[in-house]
This record gives sequence, structure tokens and C-alpha cells, in this order.
Amino acid sequence: MAEKADNGIRHLPVMAERVLEHLDCRPGMVVVDCTLGEGGHAMEIVKRIAPGGKLIGIDRDAEVLPRARRRLEDSPVPVTIRHLHYAGLAAWAAGEGVTGIDGALFDLGLSSYQLDDPDRGFSFRRDGTLDMRMDRAGGPTAAELVNRLPVAELERIFFRFGQERWSRRIARAIGRERRRGPIRTTAELASIVSSAVPGRGRIHPATRVFQALRIAVNRELDDLAGGLESAWSLLRSGGRLCAISFHSLEDRIVKNLFRRWAREEGSGRILTRKPEVPGRAETARNPRSRSAKLRAIEHN
Ligand code: SAH
Repeated sequence: MAEKADNGIRHLPVMAERVLEHLDCRPGMVVVDCTLGEGGHAMEIVKRIAPGGKLIGIDRDAEVLPRARRRLEDSPVPVTIRHLHYAGLAAWAAGEGVTGIDGALFDLGLSSYQLDDPDRGFSFRRDGTLDMRMDRAGGPTAAELVNRLPVAELERIFFRFGQERWSRRIARAIGRERRRGPIRTTAELASIVSSAVPGRGRIHPATRVFQALRIAVNRELDDLAGGLESAWSLLRSGGRLCAISFHSLEDRIVKNLFRRWAREEGSGRILTRKPEVPGRAETARNPRSRSAKLRAIEHN
């Protein structure tokens, strides 16, 4: 799916063809994009649900919404865009009188828009403020966690959310450094991590620590099952839910929940026996897609 890199849009939708096929978009359908981002997937969805369809797009990052709104200006179907955490979808829908939907998409993780902005502090490749909040309206920043949490708690975060084998060394190094003064930037943290771990592997030594902090700051794993259940509760019979995850902790939550719905509750039918992954052409064109895993399920 060729996407022009104009208008400053950097994010390429991941596995878009597969998503469209699994969602089985048809004219008249109501589809919720639960992670609207820059609207890459949404732009394709609206074309397929016209005429008569409706797109609802939500994102917990208010800053990205105007960009999605601009891109969807010429949508052939009505589009509702809201600043909302996906775990609050069902409650919001009830208030709006939305009683049923035909499709829901979760494209988890970050958009390139967030990742590439040094001010957001998600990447150690650019020096910036150690923030990492997807929703800058509230909640502690990565800097607050790094400077205030007990060392043992940091160690636990790096181990659990980053599967970082050097988590203790790294947490202790942070404990030492912060006694001299607060750690403020992504570059400072990346260099503390680099000097705390032995040798150099295939990936940058700070990769796992940054992933772990991001998950902790945004409580990503705590809220995921709630978000999926919220969308599931709105799906009509025959409606489909599609989730793309970007690391194994996320994928496990999606997999287990799908299994519960299909096998224990008998409320759904899994469409992807194994998770689908992007082909080589896509990973070459869009490195962000490399770790993507897509799972889909249909509501009975
Ligand atoms: N599919 C989009 C990209 C999505 S990137 C596109 O093609 O353009 C993932 C987006 O999910 C980010 O914008 C992020 O802010 C959002 N997000 C992450 N967690 C969320 C949550 N709990 N609720 C709503 N949006 C969330």
C-alpha cells in the first residue's frame, strides 16, 4: 500500500492489507479505530465502508488528533474523532447512544509521530526530555519514575517489562547517578545504561530499558485487556476485532484473551490460528513493522 510521505506524515500503517481483509470492511459498517494515530489505517477503512458507514477514531494522545482529522477531512463517510483511552470506549459509546459496532482495530504501541519527536522522550536516538507519556494531560513522566522510584522497583520494571537481564546493574547505576543530580534527558539515561552493561549486543543497550519505562509510564499492559474487552462488548454478531502488537508481553495478553472468548466463553471464533507477521517487502520498507504480530477474532 503506497503511502506518500508528504504533509509531514511519517507513519506507515502496518499490515494494512491484512487488517482490511480481517475486518472485512463493507459499505454501511461502523468501525472503531481504537488507536487512530495519524489515521493511516483509518484512511483505508473509510474508503471501504462507504456509502453508509461510519468511522469512530480514538487516541489517548490529544496531540496527534488534529493530524488525523486533517487527513480524514475528505472521508466519504462521517468520522467522529475523540481524545479517549480505549479502556473507556464502551462507557463513552453508551453516552453517545452507539449501541453496536461491526469492527474494531487496535494497532498498539507508538506512532512514528510520537517516536520521532525528541520533546516526547520516547527515543534514545534523539536527545530530548525524559517524558514518554502518550497522554501529556497527566500522570508521572519517565523522568519522575527514574528519579523517584526505589532502585528495587526500577529493577523490577526493567526485568518485567523489558526482559532486561542486566536490570539490577542498570537500576543500581541509576541509583548512583541520580544522587549527583536528577536524570533529565533521554541521552543521559541512555549513556548511564550503556556504561552499566557489559559489551554490546545486536540491539542498542538502552532498547529494553526504554521499552520498559514506556510501558510503566503508560500502564500499557494493565489497560490492554480492559480496552479489548471494552471494544468486544460493543461488537455485533459477525463483527470483527483486529489487534497488532509489537512485543511479546502485549501479544500474550491478546492471545490469552482471544482464547478465553473463543474457548471458555464461546463468544468468538479466532481467525488467525497463529499470529500473522508482515512480509519481507513490508519490513524492508517500514522497519517499525518488524516486530508486528496480528491477531483477529470474529464475534459470534
Ligand atoms: N494505525 C495508526 C497508528 C497507530 S500508532 C496509523 O496507521 O496511523 C498507536 C497509537 O495508539 C498512538 O497514537 C497512541 O497514542 C495510541 N494509543 C496507545 N495506547 C492507547 C490507549 N490506551 N487508548 C487510545 N489510544 C492509545
